[in-house]
Amino acid sequence: MIERLNLAGSSQDEVIEFVTGLGEPAYRGRQLFAAVHHRRVRDFNEMSDLPRALRERLQETATVTTLKVESRFVSSDGTRRFLMKTHDNLPVETVFIPEERRDTICFSSQSGCPLQCTFCLTAQLGLLRSLTAGEIVEQIIIVLNDVYGAGVPTPRGTNLVGMGAGEPFLNFDDLLKATGIMGDRDGLFIVPHRITVSTAGVVPKICELAKIPARPNLAISLAAPTDELRDELMPINKKWPLEELLAACKEFEETLKPRERFTFEYVMLDGINDSDEHARQLANLLNRHKLNAKVNLIPHNPADPLPYQPSPPARVDSFKRILETKGVDAFVRRPRGRDIFAACGQLAAVTQNIGAFAKHREATP
Ligand code: SAH
Repeated sequence: MIERLNLAGSSQDEVIEFVTGLGEPAYRGRQLFAAVHHRRVRDFNEMSDLPRALRERLQETATVTTLKVESRFVSSDGTRRFLMKTHDNLPVETVFIPEERRDTICFSSQSGCPLQCTFCLTAQLGLLRSLTAGEIVEQIIIVLNDVYGAGVPTPRGTNLVGMGAGEPFLNFDDLLKATGIMGDRDGLFIVPHRITVSTAGVVPKICELAKIPARPNLAISLAAPTDELRDELMPINKKWPLEELLAACKEFEETLKPRERFTFEYVMLDGINDSDEHARQLANLLNRHKLNAKVNLIPHNPADPLPYQPSPPARVDSFKRILETKGVDAFVRRPRGRDIFAACGQLAAVTQNIGAFAKHREATP
């Protein structure tokens, strides 16, 4: 079988090149790119502005639909979780988070994840494989069509966060290819500053990102203020410890434009990393590296197999106050979609909602 080109992962230039390779004029490539990326059409047959003969050629040589939605879960807070399958039957999860001013889509960069963060459910899948640029873009197209209607323009613009399953910086090239395609004004037109990617700390890629002019925003998952604790919670720390990570963050910060900032994420685990002393250590660490980043405190999203509980709200407040008195801006994130396994660290291809999952666990020793 001939490998068909996924046009969802092709830039406008690549689509034009592909179409001219089929003996068609370049403008047909522009039409095709707009159909896939601007009008979000998922079937060549529905691209009625293209001649039927071309549509038939495209059916044989290309594709725009490699992902299939297997199930869809809607939270009491309006968050939607999409469990999709790749052509080779691997799980891909994407989350839609409605917000007052602007909606956010959280996409996955890998199926499963190779990192073994002890507080994250995705870690339990292991790495199945990295997703292609096309599979990343398709996630956004599928969710936008589901939420707003096929091809309907998005009413309020969309923010994207690369905080779903996987480590985006271990799939750097496809990730940046996807964000580049999505930024095309003739396509989805979701520009890089509307996109934030989160890394557990792949230091060389942070330095590489620092050199790229049109790049997404950066978030770094910290989870601990000392190497000793971070080694335990996020084993990637043994490869790139805090000093190296924060030096790379500083290098990145120096390339930011005025008023731009990046973010640290700090998951708050009850009795593990949430004491006043941890807060002081964290503030001192960031201040010592002269980092002006803000800290998002994320209450832990519990899941049955994980050995942690979220920090109580009073603990989170105290932690936040200590950071602030030491000059570090901190914000508490409200968890979204916990009841449908859609919140941070809960994406593990769970096929039911949380109640059903608990029962399922009892049945499988
Ligand atoms: N691998 C990337 C992106 C995915 S994780 C990274 O590590 O940054 C996205 C965020 O969810 C991270 O900040 C992580 O610390 C957080 N997270 C993971 N498990 C969580 C959980 N169970 N509860 C709350 N946040 C969690």
